Amino acid sequence: MLVLINLLVYIKILKYLVGEKTMKKCTKCLLPENYPGIELDEDLICHYCLTHKKAEYKGKDKLEKLFESFRNSDSKYDCIVGISGGRDSAYALYYLVKKCNLRVLAYTADNGFVPEESKINMRKMTDILNVKLIVEKHEFLKKCIRHNVLSWLRRPSPAMIPMICCGCRLGIFRGLLKCAKKKKIPLVISGAGNPIEASRFKKKFFTANPFGRMIFIRKSKIFSFLFGYVYEIIKNPLYFLNPINTIIFLKEYFYCFHSNRIRDLFYPNQRTLRLYRYIEWNEDKILLTIKNELNWKMSKDSTSSWRFDCLISILKNYLLKKSVGFTEKDEILSNMIREKMITKEEALKRIKSENITPWNVLSEVFKDIMG
Ligand SMILES: [Zn+2]
Repeated sequence: MLVLINLLVYIKILKYLVGEKTMKKCTKCLLPENYPGIELDEDLICHYCLTHKKAEYKGKDKLEKLFESFRNSDSKYDCIVGISGGRDSAYALYYLVKKCNLRVLAYTADNGFVPEESKINMRKMTDILNVKLIVEKHEFLKKCIRHNVLSWLRRPSPAMIPMICCGCRLGIFRGLLKCAKKKKIPLVISGAGNPIEASRFKKKFFTANPFGRMIFIRKSKIFSFLFGYVYEIIKNPLYFLNPINTIIFLKEYFYCFHSNRIRDLFYPNQRTLRLYRYIEWNEDKILLTIKNELNWKMSKDSTSSWRFDCLISILKNYLLKKSVGFTEKDEILSNMIREKMITKEEALKRIKSENITPWNVLSEVFKDIMG
């Protein structure tokens, strides 16, 4: 209860301090002037717009060629694909089964905060496509989140908001690889990380702080991130006073930033692949296909078709909106403007509607975290 009061007081103070301040924004992509690392010129155009290169994909031919070497292996399945109940992994599963005719095993890692609608979506899509679904629970996020939220409340920092859900990616990636190894499946496919959903700001928060900016480490994004993270920990050492939290953070860091080395060391017979590095990510096409073909539905509490597959994202988005005035939804919309997928006017409307906080869900999530 005390923590909830702390959170509300902090948010109120923030609203007073920054909530009403009018930010300068890039006139093309709408990114605000406080977006980490942004440079706006005199015409208020950001350097991301000025230096933008259209997203490139490796192409379907390369993908098909790659699949050929994995088809009809000794395993019962050609590949395993991670799904979450969200839109991108739903389309990935559909594409692999229907367009590529692969023998697919679907895998999901339940972090303890998966909404019921996502679970229903996963059951429906695997039934329709006649694909076996493996559901595994992991405790990494549950073990970390309470301590992370309490640490954040002690000294709030925007950079540490995305880190609240430490352990989740570890659970997914490690679970997928372990399952593939156990079942002798040679190819591990992920529907995450399309080039439009770059989520640049999460790393930029760290690489743009004094430690992250240090010249001698500037050439390495990975070490720049790590040093930027150390800066945040020095400011608020409470994060590292929980040894379980520290171990999970370090494991996740190595799994996410040194994924190839981890894979080669522990899973030498598995190859990993991100589907949207090969095929174009097209929001309209994805939504139309999964709604029509897989009976996929959005959550009734969500105004966005993106990121409703984990309840913690509601808390993170809320804290980001109140702390810095933008969320990862603003970022993906700015990327979509640059890619000419939507107009600035459409993005403005969506920034407003897709950042609405479902209060009933948020309070339940918060109660769940605090136990
Ligand atoms: Zn811009």
